[in-house]
Amino acid sequence: MHYTILDCYTDEASGLGVPPYLGTYPRYIYGQLKTEGHTVSYLTIDDLRLWKNYGGVRREPTVKQKTNILVYNTTNNNARDILARTDVLIVIIGVHVPGKYLTALPGTLREVIPLLRELPMKKILTGPVIFGTQLEGGKLFENADLSLFDEIKDFTLPFDKLDQYAIAGAEILTQIPDKRVIEIETSRGCNVGKCSFCTEPLKSKFVNRSKDSVVQEVKAFYGRGARFIRLGKQADFYSSDQPIEMLQEIRESCPDLEMLHIDNVNPNFVVRPGGEEITKAIVEYCTSGNIAAFGIESFDPAVVKANLLNTMPAVAMKAIQIINKYGAKRGENGMPCFLPGINIIFGLLNETKETHQKNIEALTYILQDGLLLRRINIRQVAILPNTYIHQHGGHKYLLKNKKYYWKWRNEIRQTIDNPMLARILPKGTIIKDVWTEMYDGKTTFCRQMGTYPLVIGIKGRLPLKQKISVKVTGYMLRSVVGEVLS
Ligand code: SF4
Repeated sequence: MHYTILDCYTDEASGLGVPPYLGTYPRYIYGQLKTEGHTVSYLTIDDLRLWKNYGGVRREPTVKQKTNILVYNTTNNNARDILARTDVLIVIIGVHVPGKYLTALPGTLREVIPLLRELPMKKILTGPVIFGTQLEGGKLFENADLSLFDEIKDFTLPFDKLDQYAIAGAEILTQIPDKRVIEIETSRGCNVGKCSFCTEPLKSKFVNRSKDSVVQEVKAFYGRGARFIRLGKQADFYSSDQPIEMLQEIRESCPDLEMLHIDNVNPNFVVRPGGEEITKAIVEYCTSGNIAAFGIESFDPAVVKANLLNTMPAVAMKAIQIINKYGAKRGENGMPCFLPGINIIFGLLNETKETHQKNIEALTYILQDGLLLRRINIRQVAILPNTYIHQHGGHKYLLKNKKYYWKWRNEIRQTIDNPMLARILPKGTIIKDVWTEMYDGKTTFCRQMGTYPLVIGIKGRLPLKQKISVKVTGYMLRSVVGEVLS
């Protein structure tokens, strides 16, 4: 049987699968089908768009145009030819925590369904979409007629059945021409929270993946040439199975990794006994530019309480101090080794104007205390089905406060992000291992491969997909301006 996986990309509270990231969903399914003896092709939504919307012709942008990110992440496969031979099409969709993506745009149900309508094969829908999907923050989940699909299926396997498929899934890289960050799963569910907006507790009870399974999968991808790894699919890296040994073994068995990062961290586990040891190990074994993504969401205790959030402001502050103590030093690639990042969400239950004041006060305190924050993610909550917020007020606060959001966000960007950026990367700092990625007019935008990498704008059109070193010369609100070192 010829199966084709159509990856429309995924973004969840735990787990990123938007290029340059390669998520777990296509890899696990690929490995399982391959192990069962099937022929498996991998396509992205970009391949499908290129065929259906652009007649298979890729055009270079003129100097006035942006790089077309709708068709940036094509595979080695031709969508029309592959789909003509396909018996079963498995479509992966699902954005739960919508972000802004520099070089990709996830496919929505509204986009994908019409593109697939004429295709005759059996179609299965899977991925986070099973729990709802929404590409834009501040909205209810996408409502669509799913009758096109013959089946809606959850392919999730328990960890003890997953190992051989996860390893076999590394072969998918043979169908992808560009470099990818491999997002590795270390746990499922959430061991602490039941945050009002989050689908993680709905998807799974908390269960850790064994350290050995994680290391084996990383080794399989490394053996296939992967050099960028993020141990990023989890609610809290600090609660992983033997996190220190995990990092140590990966470093020892994959010595030429160019990037090893983590993602989500629960501040409560940083401040607990043992938290400082894990922090030190992350600094020692991971590559620099690493971030502990703290899902703080709000510094307003009333919002924390109403939304069952897991971190009170005092705990957040202490965790930020600990990460700074060990991680703020500058690493080999020019970035600080390991810094906290903060997620703030607008539109949560009990949000008032005071909430913004409390957020600004806390962030100002961090700035004035000389601490570093690598990035502040601000988004409007996406209301997904069956979540606590969906059942206890839904849109109410979003609608009430929407008129303030631009102002609130802008104040954080101007008064916190901007001075913080200048502190993290003073003018003249050299940043290495930067990849040229896309054009917008006469500017080339570049990033390191990493967890939430900083966007760097460089004047002129440099050849794309090249690795360069850059000197910081100025700042935008959340990105830096640089010049290429010759
Ligand atoms: S801490 Fe909250 S947001 Fe994070 S995974 Fe758990 S329930 Fe979701």
